[in-house]
Amino acid sequence: MIAVEQMDFAYPGATAVFQGFSWNVARGEAWAVLGPSGCGKSTLLSILAGLLAPQKGRVGVDGQPLTRPRPQTGLIIQDYGLLPWATIRENARLGLRIRNLYGPDGVHAPRDYVRTLNVDAWLERLGLLPYADQYPGHVSGGQRQRTAIARTLALQPDLLLMDEPFSSLDAPTRESLQSLALELWKEAGLTLVIVTHAIEEAAVLGQKILLLGRPPNQAAQIIDNPGVTQPAYRDSVAYTALCKDLRGRLEQS
Ligand code: ADP
Repeated sequence: MIAVEQMDFAYPGATAVFQGFSWNVARGEAWAVLGPSGCGKSTLLSILAGLLAPQKGRVGVDGQPLTRPRPQTGLIIQDYGLLPWATIRENARLGLRIRNLYGPDGVHAPRDYVRTLNVDAWLERLGLLPYADQYPGHVSGGQRQRTAIARTLALQPDLLLMDEPFSSLDAPTRESLQSLALELWKEAGLTLVIVTHAIEEAAVLGQKILLLGRPPNQAAQIIDNPGVTQPAYRDSVAYTALCKDLRGRLEQS
């Protein structure tokens, strides 16, 4: 689904963030990208979203070279990006409205796109239907983030990129949204890449974990985490051991 080959990326006048970096993600996998602040996690996500281009190497998504943002990629960021003057339902419709404006042109919307504004199934799935006519300022942070998720999933992405999506939420809300993200991943057959600086979040969401370190990142350090799909994984010995292992690796990086 994602193929990064021998990629070099540097911001102008700065040390390289990636140098000869290669990484592959298979369709349907859930990856967490973990590393300390400043290691290049958001940069990698922006490259995968088609918002930044590497200076060298190749980045392909779904077999195509990535030259611009693709309509089948969904991006969810930390501070929701909701319009304060629009209701939860209207916010959830925003992506569809933009798609409807352009139509199925293959750039803003997939060529097989059928115009719709129906988001209520997603609002219901995310527990937002009772709040559909409220404004973002009148609902909780967790509900705002759910709205951002509904807005993105209404566009039926095949690749979902999330940048620290739950870090500003309180612990119980964060845990419930992490579980929801895993459920949606399993249901929708999505390929998921979640960027996080939190070890526990990477361990609970990443079927595979890409560990980044101090730039330049040259070789992908990958940790398998097959237990992630098991019920109550968070309470298991394997989960605790993985968190300890990740903590040790981060301290060395
Ligand atoms: P992370 O998401 O892991 O915190 P980033 O990808 O945001 O890391 O940043 C990686 C490196 O690139 C850091 O050293 C950061 O200071 C630098 N950087 C990030 N964005 C820019 C930018 N727009 N211009 C210049 N340097 C940047």
